[in-house]
Amino acid sequence: MKVLVTGGAGFIGSVTARALEAGGHEAGIFDDFSTGHEWACRGRRVYRGDIRDRGALDRAFADMRPDAVLHFAGKIIVPESVTNPGLYYDVNVIGSLRLLEAMRTAGCRRIVFSSSAAVYGTPERTPIAEDAPQNPISPYGRTKKHFEEALEDARPADGLGYASLRYFNACGAAPEWGLGEVREPETHLLPIVMRAALAGKPFTVCGTDYATRDGTCVRDYVDVRDLADAHVRALERLKPGVGNSYNLGTERGTTVREVVAVAGRVLGRPVAFVEGPRRPGDPPELVASCSKAREELGWTPARSLEDSVRAVAEFVRSRGGLEAR
Ligand code: UDP
Repeated sequence: MKVLVTGGAGFIGSVTARALEAGGHEAGIFDDFSTGHEWACRGRRVYRGDIRDRGALDRAFADMRPDAVLHFAGKIIVPESVTNPGLYYDVNVIGSLRLLEAMRTAGCRRIVFSSSAAVYGTPERTPIAEDAPQNPISPYGRTKKHFEEALEDARPADGLGYASLRYFNACGAAPEWGLGEVREPETHLLPIVMRAALAGKPFTVCGTDYATRDGTCVRDYVDVRDLADAHVRALERLKPGVGNSYNLGTERGTTVREVVAVAGRVLGRPVAFVEGPRRPGDPPELVASCSKAREELGWTPARSLEDSVRAVAEFVRSRGGLEAR
């Protein structure tokens, strides 16, 4: 299939674009390069544009004539969405609706959407299944929920085939492809831990008074190469008029302190940290139930958190640091 990958210059998008090609598909990248990188999409067709710009979208569709869209482009920082919700609604909702309109005009009826575990908010119970109540506690989570609903409304109206993939905590790297997570400012735990370890400077643990086994938040860390594999599987199973949502995680919860311990073990040096206040918008525990993805997509994540840390370490070595350049 010919696939237009919005946000394909970013972390998960660039790894998935490579996985698409490895699976015999063709990937074109649509990205505004606000946080993505040119080095992450070398060797493939690139359309530079903002998803809010209908003209730029129409030009990309007219040129590439894609059979499907993988929609990664969006704002992803939960605390930023709390302080600047307008930006999140503008990009994640209005931008995504423009993309949907451009698809409709171009007759493109297949889309895989990067959604998030943030649509669930603070879950009543874990692990979380796809039919759990959705009460997002951050503007970020609400924007993801809104676009999922827009897809569900477009499904019967436009004959749209869609899959909303609700990522838990994406991490890791694909050093074999020279790809990994590089952004400024970095807000994600594992790259922050890696930077702290490399610089020999402590990082701040955000909240140590949660009702969890060691007081820090529990998350389900899933490797980006496994996420990429899930996208290819979801894409290949899309059918016009059929929509689905899938949780993507490992079904295993890890606390912040445990992440620090794993990183220290893999890197062979302890990672220093200081204890700080809670971060706004953070639920105490998010762990996925992934039986739906296992049964319907035949997907099982193959990498452990240790594997992801090793991949990040190799990626860091190959590029001599994690700073953006
Ligand atoms: N976290 C932390 N210190 C940091 C960054 C993150 O303690 O410098 C914690 C954060 O509070 C959360 C977990 O690490 O409990 C994962 O955060 P991240 O931003 O990586 O992903 P999120 O869960 O927000 O999608």
